[in-house]
Amino acid sequence: MRQLEIAYAEYVELRETAMGYCVRCGDFTRESVEPDATGYECPTCEHDTVVGAEIGLIRGDFEISEEF
Ligand SMILES: [Zn+2]
Repeated sequence: MRQLEIAYAEYVELRETAMGYCVRCGDFTRESVEPDATGYECPTCEHDTVVGAEIGLIRGDFEISEEF
């Protein structure tokens, strides 16, 4: 699967707005997910595979792009 790459500013915003990243969908699919949360249900694929932005970054699910 293609690795999602986001700009640092975008990552900060996703963190601040508590967007959750779905490991299965490979995208940010859900709101109201704390940055250090795991196991939230994804509204798209309906699996408990949504993690917070911080966890996603630590896990290497997506990369911060240095390009702006
Ligand atoms: Zn999903």
